[in-house]
Amino acid sequence: MNKDKVIAMIIKHKNILGISGLVVAMCVLGACFGTKAAREYDVEGLNKIENIRPIVVIGSGPAGLSAAIYGARANRSTLVIEGNEPGGLLTKTTTVENWPGEVSIQGPDIVKKMREHAEHLGVDFLTDTVQDVDFTQWPFVITTGDGETIHALTVIIATGANPRKLNIPGEELSGVSACAVCDAPFFKNEEVAVIGGGDSAVEEAIQLASFAKSVTILVRGKEMRAAASMQDRLKEYPKISIRYNTKPLEVVGDGDKVTGLLVHNVDKNANETLPFSGIFLAIGHIPNSQLFEGKIDLDEGGYIKLHGRSQETSVEGVFAAGDVEDHVYRQARVAEGSGVKAALDAENFLQKIGFSTARGAQLKSNLFRVDRAHKSPHAILHVLESAKDFDELVAKAQGIVILDFYADYCPSCLHMLPAYEAVAGEYVGQVEFAKVNAEKAIDLVAKFYVERVPCLLVFSNGKLIGRYNQAMDKNELREFVNQFLKS
Ligand code: NDP
Repeated sequence: MNKDKVIAMIIKHKNILGISGLVVAMCVLGACFGTKAAREYDVEGLNKIENIRPIVVIGSGPAGLSAAIYGARANRSTLVIEGNEPGGLLTKTTTVENWPGEVSIQGPDIVKKMREHAEHLGVDFLTDTVQDVDFTQWPFVITTGDGETIHALTVIIATGANPRKLNIPGEELSGVSACAVCDAPFFKNEEVAVIGGGDSAVEEAIQLASFAKSVTILVRGKEMRAAASMQDRLKEYPKISIRYNTKPLEVVGDGDKVTGLLVHNVDKNANETLPFSGIFLAIGHIPNSQLFEGKIDLDEGGYIKLHGRSQETSVEGVFAAGDVEDHVYRQARVAEGSGVKAALDAENFLQKIGFSTARGAQLKSNLFRVDRAHKSPHAILHVLESAKDFDELVAKAQGIVILDFYADYCPSCLHMLPAYEAVAGEYVGQVEFAKVNAEKAIDLVAKFYVERVPCLLVFSNGKLIGRYNQAMDKNELREFVNQFLKS
């Protein structure tokens, strides 16, 4: 239950509670939901605490990276915990033409430049995810997926938002994707659909038009909500058509493969199946705030609530920036600006509690060091370039074999590879791990119907027993592997 609902309940039952009951209820509410209360900041006692960081940024998209740059420029020892998808959604975009100062630039290049800038200023990056946060004590405690405990004097949450799903049957089939940049090349000369009527749908369709035979944008209402200038761009692509008043009901498939989409034709008030071999979702995003539920105030859509014109959340010393708090603009440049504001707010907070940069310098030996973080031993990953390589590996493997199909143009694939390699090191002697460049091992791609990357295939005695089509962090990879070891 969120805080607003609890307040509504307290107000509803105010006559039963009476004055003293009301006071107690409001106090309990404050304690449970981390509402700002006077807190003691024992800056002098920090030398008794290990693994401190004055600024910890959670997330590494434009908001997180710009916050980190400003944090480092304020001479604060700043740590970025990169998360599942380092670089965030911008790494999945292609050409960006509205980045002031850059007439035309690729999304991944913006992220690369920002990251290099941050590194140049001394920002540390931890390739890990956040498992838990405790904002009830100060310094705040952050626990990572790899089991690190970090004590943060301020936290900037920049975890972004992820693509929304339709929640209709068949959505899990291979051939349904939310990333045309990643998967468009798999649909050469095929008929594909893009679901959605916003700017993303236009971008996805244009991306697909370079490969597919035809691209149909399916809009559930009678008009697109994409900007007029974006809709104008579609006129340059004769392969792209738009179908209005079309509501998706079910992705239809043949085994693992998509063959069509069952839709409700609103004009005819009838259902029909349209033939497509690829379905691309462009229906908006969900903020990545689940980790913070009950710990800071969120709105009904799950976006982090901010106070006034600042980036401050309901917990003093915890700030948020970017798409996780912004459901209005959702632009990389706006996210970047909010990251700057969050870093300035964080610096003000540190000053306010008396944590000067001189005090920071005295605590050097108490700082969390990235090179001290736990590192898994790296196994030698098999590199498969053809079906022949695969047959040889399977012939000599004792138990489970896992293949990770990736592509150089797929940022989430590239980000997952280090985690994949690290996890492989934990299963030496139990599981054989291999990586496959999907652009090169064409025969393997065809043999196992790999239609999008990343794609993990699991084999037992040469027989395909599992398939998964999403990037995973280390913990998710471990869980994924363990289920096959148990069975
Ligand atoms: P939007 O929220 O703008 O659009 C989502 C679209 O999906 C809407 O057309 C919506 O329909 C449709 N939709 C939602 N749920 C369903 C469903 N269940 N079935 C069918 N259709 C559904 O999201 P975008 O990702 O397109 O854009 C997000 C933000 O990012 C926007 O502010 C946009 O301007 C910005 N953006 C800017 C870009 C650029 O400038 N280059 C590129 C991409 C995004 P309906 O309209 O009926 O609600």
